[in-house]
Amino acid sequence: MSTGLDDTKSGALYNRALSVLPGGVNSPVRAMRAIGRDPIFIERGSGCEISDVDGNSFIDYVCSWGPLILGHAHPAVVEAVTNQLQRGSTFGAPTEIEVDLAEEVCRRLPSVEMLRMTSSGTEAAMSVVRLARAVTGREPVLKFSGAYHGHVDGLLAEAGSGLATAGVPGSPGVPAAAAAGTIVVPWNDPDALAAACAKHQFAAILAEPVPANMGLVPPAQGCLELLRELADTNGALLVFDEVISGFRVSFGGAQELFGVQPDLTVFGKILGGGLPAAAYGGRRDLMERIAPAGDVYQAGTLSGNPLAVAAGLATLGELDDDAYLKLSATTERLAEGMRSAAGERPVQVVTQPGLMTVFFSEEPITDYLGAQRTDREAFAAWCRALLARGIYPPPSQFETWFPSLAHTDEAIDRTIEAAAAAFAEIA
Ligand SMILES: *Cc1c(COP(=O)(O)O)cnc(C)c1O
Repeated sequence: MSTGLDDTKSGALYNRALSVLPGGVNSPVRAMRAIGRDPIFIERGSGCEISDVDGNSFIDYVCSWGPLILGHAHPAVVEAVTNQLQRGSTFGAPTEIEVDLAEEVCRRLPSVEMLRMTSSGTEAAMSVVRLARAVTGREPVLKFSGAYHGHVDGLLAEAGSGLATAGVPGSPGVPAAAAAGTIVVPWNDPDALAAACAKHQFAAILAEPVPANMGLVPPAQGCLELLRELADTNGALLVFDEVISGFRVSFGGAQELFGVQPDLTVFGKILGGGLPAAAYGGRRDLMERIAPAGDVYQAGTLSGNPLAVAAGLATLGELDDDAYLKLSATTERLAEGMRSAAGERPVQVVTQPGLMTVFFSEEPITDYLGAQRTDREAFAAWCRALLARGIYPPPSQFETWFPSLAHTDEAIDRTIEAAAAAFAEIA
């Protein structure tokens, strides 16, 4: 790995950043360490393209890790945010547009009758677990290995040794007791799930219905239905973390696409349209436990921030049925192109609408263990080769490409051409 000592502007900025920001970044994956290179400092974005401080431009498949389903600087979002900013950025008091946004979310997802906004997905996931514990009077929660629900202590847990045992801290600084409240089971493993449910009385079963933080690993046939069934027999609340899948894989998220209704849902990313906003919501009888309607405390200075709400509303306003058809078509064009670009190289190209992962693996990936067995060195070399050709991929095998509505057929075709050349280079 180089150390920012090259003579680019990005290199110079990285050097400055390294002395004032841990690792030179404000969130780890941006540092690009997983693909063995330095980060790229971005100056601007428009549509599906971003430009760095050295004047290089890229077709962007990170799109801020999901929020930018309309692409960068979409006119509707720019206008909505600008208009709101001129009227004031935050009041710490109720506004009309936050009611509009809540109504729009409830309209899209029948399982959501009420919601509470927060500023980040982490905060929403943390709060939904508190609510589930309050409602059920139970403490243990179940999560799946390789799922990400933000960096709150109790959800940064990894599987302990043996089946259905208490989780262990996923990071130094996470108290053992916080991790022990979380039982971690492999994704797409009905037996492990049933064993955990037989052993524990859960407050919540927490799942990304379309896991996209170990690369994209969709649920096997019947997997989400089983979650619903086991949550009911266990007496646990079923919580879907739709921070990525919400408003992306369909109009009503993964719960609509797969036809399985959770009790509570976590939102983020697209909800804020590129500004910081997230939420949790669900059945009225559950949500009315939240203060001040009820006794479960949760608050936020910038919760329901007018700028973020304006950006979210403007974004959702563009996402009609036609938009989802277009996003699916774009995703499939990209995936088909990737499969043919890969040629002889064994890769697994996995998609859901608006999501794609190219796993460097001969075997299909069904869980986190499988994702960890991919050829990450070859993946890293491929990503570096893509960047050299003006394509900006998520720089980790455990992340997902975010094709957007701004990605034109021409941009997709250029991407496929670059991908084929990148595969050839690393062969
Ligand atoms: C990004 C993400 C989160 C955390 O959201 P932040 O806004 O980064 O705190 C939670 N759950 C899932 C599924 C995510 O992808």
